[in-house]
Amino acid sequence: MVASSVLGFPRIGANREVKKAVEAYWAGKLTADELTKAAAEVKKFNWTSLKAKNVDFVPSGEFSLYDHVLDHSAALNVIPARYTGLGLSPLDVYFAMGRGRQADGVDVPASEMKKWFDSNYHYVVPEFSEATDFKLNFNKAVEEFNEAKAVGVVTRPVVLGPISFLVLGKAGRDASAGFQPISLLEKLIPVYKQLLTELKSAGAEWVQIDEPILVLDVAAGLGKQFTSAYSALAPVAPKILLTTYFGRLDSNLDFVAKLPVAGLHIDLDREPGQLDATVAAIKSTSLVLSLGVVSGRNIWKNDFTRSIKLGQKAIDELGAERVIVATSSSVLHTPVTLASENKLTPEQKDWFSFALEKADEVAVIAAALSGSQDPKITAALEANRVSIGKRREFETTSDDAVRKRVAAITDEMLHRKSPFPKRREAQKGHLDLPKFPTTTIGSFPQTKEIRSARLKLGKGELTQDQYEDFIKKEIEGVVRFQEKVGLDLLVHGEPERNDMVQYFGEQLHGFVFTQNGWVQSYGSRYVRPPIIVSDVSRPGPMTVKWSSYAQSVTKKPMKGMLTGPVTILNWSFPRADISKELQAKQLALALRDEVVDLEKAGIHAIQVDEPAIREGLPLRRVDWDAYLKWAVDSFKLSTAGVTDATQTHSHFCYSDFNDIFPSIQRLDADVISIEASKSDMKLLEAFKQFGYSNEIGPGVYDIHSPRVPGEQEIKDRIKAMLGLLPDHLLFVNPDCGLKTRGWKETEASLTNLVAAARWARQTY
Ligand code: GLN
Ligand code: ZN
Repeated sequence: MVASSVLGFPRIGANREVKKAVEAYWAGKLTADELTKAAAEVKKFNWTSLKAKNVDFVPSGEFSLYDHVLDHSAALNVIPARYTGLGLSPLDVYFAMGRGRQADGVDVPASEMKKWFDSNYHYVVPEFSEATDFKLNFNKAVEEFNEAKAVGVVTRPVVLGPISFLVLGKAGRDASAGFQPISLLEKLIPVYKQLLTELKSAGAEWVQIDEPILVLDVAAGLGKQFTSAYSALAPVAPKILLTTYFGRLDSNLDFVAKLPVAGLHIDLDREPGQLDATVAAIKSTSLVLSLGVVSGRNIWKNDFTRSIKLGQKAIDELGAERVIVATSSSVLHTPVTLASENKLTPEQKDWFSFALEKADEVAVIAAALSGSQDPKITAALEANRVSIGKRREFETTSDDAVRKRVAAITDEMLHRKSPFPKRREAQKGHLDLPKFPTTTIGSFPQTKEIRSARLKLGKGELTQDQYEDFIKKEIEGVVRFQEKVGLDLLVHGEPERNDMVQYFGEQLHGFVFTQNGWVQSYGSRYVRPPIIVSDVSRPGPMTVKWSSYAQSVTKKPMKGMLTGPVTILNWSFPRADISKELQAKQLALALRDEVVDLEKAGIHAIQVDEPAIREGLPLRRVDWDAYLKWAVDSFKLSTAGVTDATQTHSHFCYSDFNDIFPSIQRLDADVISIEASKSDMKLLEAFKQFGYSNEIGPGVYDIHSPRVPGEQEIKDRIKAMLGLLPDHLLFVNPDCGLKTRGWKETEASLTNLVAAARWARQTY
């Protein structure tokens, strides 16, 4: 018999119950006990649903109130000193690490968050130092194993592996120079031994140990550590399924195949090509192979024929008893269920599988591979064949005009007419900006009134005309505000946008939207990514009306505001049938038309945001160049249609550019703004070293906190920046959009920003 398995499940609840409970707890409206109860309901739903769908290996222990890496840090006592001794309960210490705490005289900022590999999920980065005192504060794996058992489900607990835990962490503030978290491995192993021993005593037959760093280049140098860690753990632990996902093992397979574990999981959704090598490497061992054929990352229905073929190949070599059919990774990256979608057409709905439907898929594929004659299975296989056939047929109905246009992209279309210095002269005519021009990144506070107007439009309580009048008033208000504060290059404030990706997706052809397709981004922040289902084109202008209205009410120059092709792609669920490159180019052409239309409408500065360009980097370095080529080309394609006299801007949220400077330069935006306020100027030093040549606006203050930066503080920042960047290239701006801020602090902060820029003009 071939077994089926799900590696992890969304922890948000089918109706976002966890967000609601957690936020109510933060607001003091729910007690800790009530929060625990609400969480228990969601866990119970997850476990019993998966069991009811005949999934053999149901995960437990991966549930989280905030982030599973943070849970692990809290459990293993990896708690930075600044969060202890504050008189907080363990639960509040946990939340303080995740999101900071500012109440009752306690004022600690949140720990750093980082992207979980190449997904849009963020984890809280563990901080290690020589002083880290590992101990098992609580055994979450055992607790949730027992909790699941109590509701009738025997699970396979999930534990983050010791090497990934250390490698995904960073040196804490108290660590000495050059400290490497991996140096703590020997100290960490006894705690893992205790954790796993207890788990075995609790009756767990298997444990899923996640070591996702095995798909990164860095793991190649850690073979020794893997061998020693797993040699120590295997004898005391339940049977270990060593889990990798999001990429390929490549040469790491050499040592992984020899580890004393009972099973290995590989991602065949991302990297089907690694099946053969893996099977060959483990054939002579007794390892079980878990085949990640059902995607944990996308929302497309699985092609059973294809998965069964892969599965059969493994069975032919290893035998059915050694094969498990699994999701490629945790399905936490997908929405909970399609069942609650009422607005997708039946045709569209038939294309997708969300988390619960994916559980059905692994069970059916496993049954089919086991030779099941159950009529339900036969029917499911047939239904899948029909669905996939229909989707494939739909995929062939491409938009010829779009395809032809992409095929006809020339190198010339990627380049502005003249080099930057010449463009800069041309731009002076239209923009007439002073030295150290001040601007903002685009959005202004998204107030309750704005959200409620959007909601009322959706419910039909406001007519389109009434809504547009409201937005116009908002825009005019934002313009007057900027004039009053004294900013130089204005924006319209983005009041009409629900979200910087969804807003564009809704106006482009080729996207569909869910009503309830929430996916956790971090903590209690969930996003609802649009889905790209067909070729993308722009039926008409998307932002021209608002930007030109904004320009019509002021004499100051107005900056148009768009989201870039790579960011729209990365923050959506992409198609699986054509390459990301092709999708990015289609988006780029649509945006190119928008940029040209904005220029025609008299908008002479246009910003195309690409905060996601860095995070889209492939996990393996050998794959970077190919990605950067099409990603940068797509941005250029979207912006290069304008004359020299139009100033193009781009914005990146804090980005570690060190290893991709040539690509940032190659974007050739006239002005870039970056989130430098938190990075202690290190980023700017790198810009200097690289000799970056265009205009640049490193954020002078952090917008992620309600704190108002003082005028002197901003002056100091400008002074420090001028030590690294030439004065004639410097813009003065906050480090990101202001949509999450209140008006009061926005006014105070921008007033100080303008005063500091005026001071700089007189001083330098
Ligand atoms: N223009 C967007 C804004 O100001 C940029 C947001 C972002 O970088 N994430 O909101
Ligand atoms: Zn930003």
